[in-house]
Amino acid sequence: MIFKSIRWLLQAWHSLILVVVLTGFGVTAYQVARGNQLRRIDQELQQRLITAFRPGPPADPHGHGGPPRERPPPDRSPNEGKEGKHDHDPSGWRAHMREVIAHAGALEAGQTNAFYYVVWQQDGSLLASSPGAPKDVPMPAETGREHEPVDRSGAITRTRGELREFCLCFPFGDRALVGRSMAPDLAAMHRLALWLFTAGASVLAFGMAGGWWVATRAIRPIEAISATAVKIAGGDLAQRINASDTESELGRLAGVLNSTFARLEGAFTHQVRFTADASHELRTPVSVILSQTQTALSRERSAAEYRETLQACQRAAQRMRKLIESLLELARLDAGQERMKQERFDLSRVARECVELVRPLAAERGVEMRCDLTGVECLGDAERVSQVVTNLLSNAIHFNRERGEVRVTARSENGTAFLTIADTGVGIPPEDLPHIFERFYRVDKSRSRIQGKTGLGLAICKAIVEAHSGAIEVTSQPGVGSTFEVRLPSGSA
Ligand code: ADP
Repeated sequence: MIFKSIRWLLQAWHSLILVVVLTGFGVTAYQVARGNQLRRIDQELQQRLITAFRPGPPADPHGHGGPPRERPPPDRSPNEGKEGKHDHDPSGWRAHMREVIAHAGALEAGQTNAFYYVVWQQDGSLLASSPGAPKDVPMPAETGREHEPVDRSGAITRTRGELREFCLCFPFGDRALVGRSMAPDLAAMHRLALWLFTAGASVLAFGMAGGWWVATRAIRPIEAISATAVKIAGGDLAQRINASDTESELGRLAGVLNSTFARLEGAFTHQVRFTADASHELRTPVSVILSQTQTALSRERSAAEYRETLQACQRAAQRMRKLIESLLELARLDAGQERMKQERFDLSRVARECVELVRPLAAERGVEMRCDLTGVECLGDAERVSQVVTNLLSNAIHFNRERGEVRVTARSENGTAFLTIADTGVGIPPEDLPHIFERFYRVDKSRSRIQGKTGLGLAICKAIVEAHSGAIEVTSQPGVGSTFEVRLPSGSA
C-alpha cells in the first residue's frame, strides 16, 4: 500500500537522489582533501630530504641553521652529487651521510610531529638512522612494490600505518628515506569526514522534510478530487471539487473535471426527464385504449359503437407507434447508428419536393407557400435532409395563422449551404426559444398533445443536421413569426 502511494514514491525518489548526490559530493570532497593533504605531506618530505642530503650542510628545517658549508646550485638534485666531491669515494660519501643524519636527527629532537631519517647501503644494510626513527623501517625496493609507487625521478612514496615515507636513491646505490607520522593529519581528515557527514545528514533531513511538505501540498488537490469522485459515485451528482488554485496543473485538472461533472449531471438529469416524458407520452394513448375498451365491454354495444371504439383505439395505437418510431430514431441517432450517406445533391430540388409534399396541408390551412430556390449543392444524405425540411415545413404551416405565409429560400456561401424556412405564425416566446430543440418540449403542451404532436420533431431535426456536421438555429418574434435556418456542408470547398 505504502509503495503505491504517490506521495511515498515521490518522497523515496527524492530521498534517493539526495542521498546519491550528497554521498557523491561528500566522498569527492573528502577524497580531494585527502589527496591534497597527502600531496602536501609528500612535498614536505621531499623538501626535507633534498634539503638535508644536498652536498652541503643540512639546512635547519626549523630555521636553526647549520654550520656554514658550501652549497650546490639550487637546481641540482641530490643525485647530481655523483658529480660532486664524493664521486669516487663511497666511504667519504657515507661518512657525510651519517653526519647529515645525526645533524638532522638532532634538529628534529624535541619537535612535535618530528621527521625521521634512515639511510641504507646498496646491500640493504642500515647505514644510519636518526634517533626518532621507528625500529625496523623496511628498505623500499628500487623498483617499488605494491603501495610503493616509483615516480620518474626514481623517488618512492609509501604509507605504513600512520607513517608517510619518501625515499630517494643516492650515489653508490644507497637509499635515503624521510618520514613522519600522519596522525595529526589523519585526525584532521577524520574531523573533516565527520563534518561532511553531519552537514550531509542535515541537508538530507532538511531536503526530505521539504520534499514531504511539497509532495503533501501537491497531492492535496488529488485527495480533494478523489473525495469528490467518491461522493459523485455514491450518487451525489451536485458535488464539485473545491479548486481554489486554478493556475496549477492540478487546479486546471480540477476545473476540467468540474465541467465534466456538470455535463454528466446535466446528461443524467436530461436522461431522467426524457424517460419520465417518454413514459408520460406513452401512458396517454395506453390510457385511451384501456378506457375505450373498458367502456365498450361494460355492456352490450351496437356495431357502430364498437367501430367507434375500435377507431379510437387505432388512433391511440398509431400515436404510440409514431412516438415509439421517433424515440427509436432518436436513440439510433444518439448512438451514431444512423449512417448518413455522403452524396452530392441539389438542396433546392429536395426543398422543392418537400414543399410539394406539404402543399395540400398548406392549402387546407390557407397558407401560401413562397419559394426562392436556385441550385444549391449540398453534401450529405438527401433523404434525411428532406425529413428535416418536411418537419420544419409542417411546423411552419401548423403554427401559422390563417392565410399566413411560408417562405423557403436556399443559398450557398463560403462552402456552406443555407436553407431558411420563415413563417408568419404565432412565433415562440423568448423564454421557450433556448429549449425548443429539447426532446418533448412544446410551447403549448396540452394543445400540442391533443393535436397529436409528439414534441420530438425538432430534436430529430437537430440530431440529423448535427450528424451532417451542420447546425440549426431559430429566431422568432411572438405574433410575427419564426425563422429556422439550417446550415449544411455544401461539398464545394
Ligand atoms: P411537435 O411535434 O410538437 O411539433 P417539434 O419538436 O417539432 O414538436 O416542436 C416543438 C415545439 O416547438 C412545438 O410544440 C411548438 O411549440 C414549437 N414550434 C416548432 N416550430 C414552430 C414554428 N414554426 N412556429 C412556432 N412554434 C414552433
